[in-house]
Amino acid sequence: METSHHVLNILLVDDDEEDFILTRDILSDIPQRKMKLHWIANYQDALEEIPRNAYDVYLIDYRLGAESGLNLIKESLREGCTKPLILLTGQGDLEIDQQAMKAGAADYMVKGNFNPFHLERSIRYSIEHTKNLNQIRSLNADLEKRVEQRTQDLAQALTKLEQTNQDLKRAEAEILKALDKERELNVMKTKFVTIASHEFRTPLSTILSSASLIARYNNPDDTDKRHKHIDRIKSAVHNLTSILNDFLSIGQLEEGKTAYNPVWLDVVHLSEEITEEMSTVTKETQHILYRHTGPKKELLVDKQVLKNILINLLSNAIKYSGPGQDIAFTTVCTEKEYIFSITDKGIGIPDVDKPHLFSQFYRAHNVTNIQGTGLGLIIVKKYVELAQGTIEYTSQEHKGSTFTVKIPMTT
Ligand code: ADP
Repeated sequence: METSHHVLNILLVDDDEEDFILTRDILSDIPQRKMKLHWIANYQDALEEIPRNAYDVYLIDYRLGAESGLNLIKESLREGCTKPLILLTGQGDLEIDQQAMKAGAADYMVKGNFNPFHLERSIRYSIEHTKNLNQIRSLNADLEKRVEQRTQDLAQALTKLEQTNQDLKRAEAEILKALDKERELNVMKTKFVTIASHEFRTPLSTILSSASLIARYNNPDDTDKRHKHIDRIKSAVHNLTSILNDFLSIGQLEEGKTAYNPVWLDVVHLSEEITEEMSTVTKETQHILYRHTGPKKELLVDKQVLKNILINLLSNAIKYSGPGQDIAFTTVCTEKEYIFSITDKGIGIPDVDKPHLFSQFYRAHNVTNIQGTGLGLIIVKKYVELAQGTIEYTSQEHKGSTFTVKIPMTT
């Protein structure tokens, strides 16, 4: 309830000045509280004034010239009026009570019918009613805000959950990948055991038989025979070493543990060294013919990696060709790259095997009893990739093969 010392400001909207005077008189007869009546006669002015909520109560006449008080109530509320609006009607407009309520009027009074007591009571009730209504509205708005906040919180929680879910899925995928790798390694180990036990048998028995034969050749005339068997032992040991090296290299490459430390390298010098080294394991009357063309620029490359590439390819060239079949080893230095090629006149690679040549453990069908693991080329390919290079080959069965590696110059 309003305190009585506060003057209630009331705005009457009525196109008839007489009604204003009449109402003002009635209000002045109210003893309980001081009320001051203000007046607007025109619909448009009223519609501008009411939404400012500057008055405590608005009394609105039903008939405003061509306009209707009901409309004014509706419009004013729509424009933001939060104060009580009381509709005043003439004697003949009794049926609009319902419409007044619907439009949002706080009360409705019939002109000429009300006395100061009625009017005071209606104003008091309307003020209280509108206050409650506003409170409900603000509570409602508050509630809506909270619901919205909660909804947002929930959406955020959901996003977080989805994120966690994705993280979990990713972790799961990684674990599965690691598991796959582990399985692959196991397969490799099994294959290693199979291949090692198979591939080691021949060189080991060669070593054994040559060693026992050497023991029997005591005559000075047997020097040649002794040397022949010493060479056999050397070659068998070389075979064993290269098989072991293959397994070691592929293991390291698979685990990404191969170090790559590029240095400026004299390629021609290194190639000559390798040619000399590999010439000790060629077949009878088989030679490695090395030739360089172009300037002798240095190449920025990992020495061990380049060495492994060349030794592997030269070993294959020796292995897959026969006595007397020379091997051409060339290096070409151009502006943009070093080109290494190794050509043999050996057994060549059958066309059917070509698509699988760089797969692990794959060996062509024409290798017969030539020893090997099927790992060398894949190792070479990975080394070449480490050096940012490329590898390709041409080969024809019974004619021979050429393997070409290109390593780009870096400035
Ligand atoms: P391997 O240990 O069997 O020599 P590689 O990975 O080095 O394994 O080679 C894979 C296969 O490619 C060989 O088994 C062989 O069939 C074929 N190959 C590689 N180099 C040559 C070559 N110079 N001449 C003929 N065949 C070759």
